[in-house]
Amino acid sequence: MSKVVNFSIDGKNCMAERGQYILDAARANNIYIPTLCNLPGVKPRGSCRICNVKVNGKLMTSCTTPVAEGMQVENNTEELLDLRKAIVELLFVEGNHYCPFCEKSGNCELQALAYRFNIMVPRYPYQFPDRDIEASSKNLIKDHNRCILCKRCIRAIKDEEGRNIFAFKRRGHKVVINVDSKISGSLNDELAQKAMDICPVGALIKKEQGFIIPIGKRTYDKHPIGYEFDVTSTETL
Ligand code: SF4
Repeated sequence: MSKVVNFSIDGKNCMAERGQYILDAARANNIYIPTLCNLPGVKPRGSCRICNVKVNGKLMTSCTTPVAEGMQVENNTEELLDLRKAIVELLFVEGNHYCPFCEKSGNCELQALAYRFNIMVPRYPYQFPDRDIEASSKNLIKDHNRCILCKRCIRAIKDEEGRNIFAFKRRGHKVVINVDSKISGSLNDELAQKAMDICPVGALIKKEQGFIIPIGKRTYDKHPIGYEFDVTSTETL
């Protein structure tokens, strides 16, 4: 069986390795599909649903759906743009995202997607949930107001024995991210920094670090999210 799969995204012929997920294959073909939970090299979970595409007319998460021969993928459509915008708006109203005084501002993928989608006012009412900020860890602040439950930290941050350091605790709308108390000592400065870097929002902030890179000179202050694909493609969503 050939290792190469031929498929299309919005009518453009693409090639991918057999078994590659649509989102990764799209990137390999210079096509941007937005995501908040996907992380290269880490097993995808399809948590955020921002990367929803239509596969042969059916809604699927592109980060967890492998390409198949002859597959027809819709990505850059008004319907999908509005669906993605709606999810980003829901995330904004579901938590408390005060961008002007967030250390992640300018490096925040949620904020960057809101700019990309030209979101001015969410279509849903703000919930203003009552959530805590935890600062008991020696090197990390957890701001539950900003967590979008993407599971990146759970999937990507491991101790030396490969055990997850982060996990969810509680259930339903009360679920929050937690550091496993038994192995919290494994969360050294390097891992705390990594956790802050991979968190798409400002929910994990390494202590004693603020404004090292000034506002205005951060990642998405320079270029919009997805810019690297926009300059090599005519895709704009
Ligand atoms: S703390 Fe950050 S990385 Fe972890 S689940 Fe929440 S938003 Fe995702």
